[in-house]
Amino acid sequence: MHLGAAATEGGLHACAICGNAQLYRKKDFPQRLGLAILALACLASIEPYRRYMIWLVWTILLGSLAFDYLLYRLVGDVVVCYRCLAQYRALPGTALFPPYELGIAERYRQEKIRLQQMETTKKESK
Ligand SMILES: [Zn+2]
Repeated sequence: MHLGAAATEGGLHACAICGNAQLYRKKDFPQRLGLAILALACLASIEPYRRYMIWLVWTILLGSLAFDYLLYRLVGDVVVCYRCLAQYRALPGTALFPPYELGIAERYRQEKIRLQQMETTKKESK
């Protein structure tokens, strides 16, 4: 795969913890923070809204949206292992990793469940 080969040149090509080669890239941005900023903006605009200061309401809401967007642009990427969810930051070539795919994640989730079941049956047979 072309993407995989390019990522190898960047340094990381497999998870350093479990050796899994399937990693995905996501924004290192806590979704809660974004929601908190929007919630604060809504709260802050209640009073101006009651006083019919519509321009101030718009300024607060659009300002917070712009702030959110800027934050989102400023934060770096984090590369995550599908299998053990280890996170890697500040790596060269993170942009070369593909984004998260639910289908792949589901496969690893199933694998984990199967492994756990095998472990428990092993213990029971002893
Ligand atoms: Zn891993």
